[in-house]
Order: sequence, then structure tokens, then C-alpha cells
Amino acid sequence: MNPNCPSCGAGCSVKYGRYHRYDDAQSIQRYRCRVCGKYHSSATHAPTYRQKRRRLNRLIEMDIASSTAQRRIAIKHGCDRKTVARKITFLAQEARKKAATWLAQQRPFEQVQWDELVSFEHTRLKPLSIAVMSVERHRCILGFGVAQVPANGLIAKRSREKYGLRRNLSGPMRKRVLKQVADYLSPMVHVVSDEHPRYASEIKQVLPQAHHRTHRSVRGSLTGQGELKRTGYDPLFPINHTLAMMRDNIKRFARRTWCTTKKVSVLEDVIAIYMHYHNTTLIPPIALNFDEKPE
Ligand SMILES: [Zn+2]
Repeated sequence: MNPNCPSCGAGCSVKYGRYHRYDDAQSIQRYRCRVCGKYHSSATHAPTYRQKRRRLNRLIEMDIASSTAQRRIAIKHGCDRKTVARKITFLAQEARKKAATWLAQQRPFEQVQWDELVSFEHTRLKPLSIAVMSVERHRCILGFGVAQVPANGLIAKRSREKYGLRRNLSGPMRKRVLKQVADYLSPMVHVVSDEHPRYASEIKQVLPQAHHRTHRSVRGSLTGQGELKRTGYDPLFPINHTLAMMRDNIKRFARRTWCTTKKVSVLEDVIAIYMHYHNTTLIPPIALNFDEKPE
């Protein structure tokens, strides 16, 4: 069936020739509306409408999820870095839609792990916490959230002097993420996490029927991006491995990098792009019923 007219909404468009799109060498079908007489084409209805560099979309998606700086992506593909920045906004929108559909097809998940990763915006004096939920067996990412947290340790005093009091917004963020992923979880889900003092009550509040199990967290090893641990058996290995993959594959998360987050909203976009790429490309495809129920 021919698409409806975008101007008047009438469903009686007729084919009206084709044109060759130079941007990606596609032949595009045009239509004419029989009610208002206006023209449209199959490109009018696509999410890439009015883009000029459609071929870059997939390439930039791969680069963003493969530890490449935005300026280097621009050099690599011969485009401006503003193009890369615009593509990130667009790709994140698409990735969020695709991830929601993909996760809805795989649900419900029975065993998940929950933890946080620390990064910063602009300077280490302004830390951010990134909460991530991943599936235990398969290690796909179900959801994430970003929130500001106050600096602690040696830099806490300097942070307060320079940037004032920084509120801890990680609690509301974690609850928001838990509510978001609840749709994909089975009601009796098993959640495994470290012994963070606030996890238990937050999980109880949002997922009242969930079984929550905690394990003591141990010191990280440098080769594991600080996320994989120096011990033999680590019960939190799946989530720690997922966080280590994020540290390695998202340029700004690497340890001792000089690539930094400038805007939290862009960081969220980058993680959204990575999350879908991670779930569908980086880890092995989900086998049906991989998530067996524990005895
Ligand atoms: Zn019309």
C-alpha cells in the first residue's frame, strides 16, 4: 500500500516516478497525493529524512561503540566533527527505539546483576555514577542511568571549594532505572549486587517480589579495567565483565584517558548507542530459554 500523504493525511497517494539519491545511490519512489496534489516519497517517511550522509550512520555507530574519539571519527570518514555530534543524537534516538523492541522480544529475564560505574563530567572533581543492569548468563545490558554524585576521598574538599556542594542524585536515578527495566523482568527475578547500603531497600521498593542477593565486592585488577577482580571466583563476574567492556569500548570511560564527558546528555546518548550494539553485535546471540530458573 502506498504511504499516506504527510500534508493532509489522505491515504490515496499514487506512484509518481522515481529519483536517484546520490547520497547512498538508492532509487527512491515518489508519490503524488490525489487530494491535495502535493508530492512525497518513500524517503519522506524514513527516520533518515533530509540527512545528507546516510552511509555514515552505520559506520559512526560502530566507531562510537569501538573506543574511537569523535574527532578521529570525523577524520576517518571525511566529515566534520559537528556531523559526528549530530549523528550521535540521531543514532541514540534510533538505538533507544531498537533496544526497546529487542528487549521486549527477549523478555522476561529471570537472573540479573546490578552495579554502578564511576566516571566524571568535565573534571574528576565532578563525578558521575552510571548504574547498569545486565543479564547474568548472557550479559546483555537491560538499562542504565547517569546521575551526578559528590566527589569523595582526597579530592572532596577541593571539589567543594571549586564547584560548591554537589548533590547526590544517584538514588532517584537508580529507582528510575529499576522502574524502566521492570517491564523486561520476571516478577520473581533474582537480582545480584554488591553490598551497597542502599540497593536492598531500593530494589525492595521497586521490585517487591524480587529475590536480592549480595556479595562483598573486592579490589579490581588493572588488566580488567579496574572492573574485573583479583580473585579466583567472582560471583559478580557477569556485571563486572559488562562494565569492563564499557570501559574498554566507550572511549571516555577508559582509565587515564584525556577524552572527557562535557555534557551528561551526550554521555547518555553514547551509552544508548553502545548498549544496543553490545546486545546485538558484541555478545553471542541469545539462545532461547538460556535463562534457566534456579532450583
Ligand atoms: Zn495530501
